[in-house]
This record gives sequence, structure tokens and C-alpha cells, in this order.
Amino acid sequence: MSFLKISHIAIAVEDLDTARKAFETLVGNRVQATEEVPDQKVRVGMIPIGESRLELAGPTDSTSTIAKFIEKRGEGIHHVCFEVEDIKAELARLKAAGFHLIDEKPRRGADGHEIAFIHPRSTGGVLVELSEKKKDK
Ligand code: ZN
Repeated sequence: MSFLKISHIAIAVEDLDTARKAFETLVGNRVQATEEVPDQKVRVGMIPIGESRLELAGPTDSTSTIAKFIEKRGEGIHHVCFEVEDIKAELARLKAAGFHLIDEKPRRGADGHEIAFIHPRSTGGVLVELSEKKKDK
């Protein structure tokens, strides 16, 4: 079993509307869609880059984990997300291999995908997200 591809790299930004202008100019492409994820008190904007995307994540609330991240470390790379075929199987595999899972079970992320996070203490200080694409039925 292996990961399929880098789904996105997420960048924590103080203000999504300010940041999107800079990143749209940087990559020469537009934010495709913005979505609020109330669970995480965050608004995200996705900019497609080939098969992957940049995810700009701005807090909607000072208690959001993104707001706390920025408070501690400033704006910057927040997490790297890998697309996987079977997220439940990957979580079981990684748990057995001794990784610290933040989410033992997948939850709903942007786009309705199933997502789960791996704790950065297991992964060289990088917060890792796994994502399984919503299957079209
Ligand atoms: Zn993400």
C-alpha cells in the first residue's frame, strides 16, 4: 500500500482574501473555490497546480486551530496532504507502525472527502493529512 499523490500543501494565512491575491499572482492561477469548514473554523481557498493544489487556510474565529498555529509560529506551511486509496486501511497500517494518529477515524473535510491527520511528532515536525476522494456513486 502506498500513497497516490500529493493532494495539496496547506498554508496558514491570517486573511484569506489578502493571501489569495498574492498566491494567485505567484502561481498564475485563480482560486477555484472557497469553502468554509465549520468543524475547523476555517475558510479555505484551493488553487490548482497541475494534479495538486495549494490550500490557503484562514481562520474564521480566534479559537480555530489555524489561528492558534499562526499565533505560535506565524503564517507558513501548515500541513501536507496525501491522497490515498483507502483511508481506513492506511490509518490501521500507520497505527500498527507506531505513528501517532490525531484522528483514529476519518472525518469529513473540504469537498466532502474523508480526511485524517497524523501527528507531526511522528513525521519530522510536519503535520500530515490523508485524504480519500469522495467516490462518485
Ligand atoms: Zn488540507
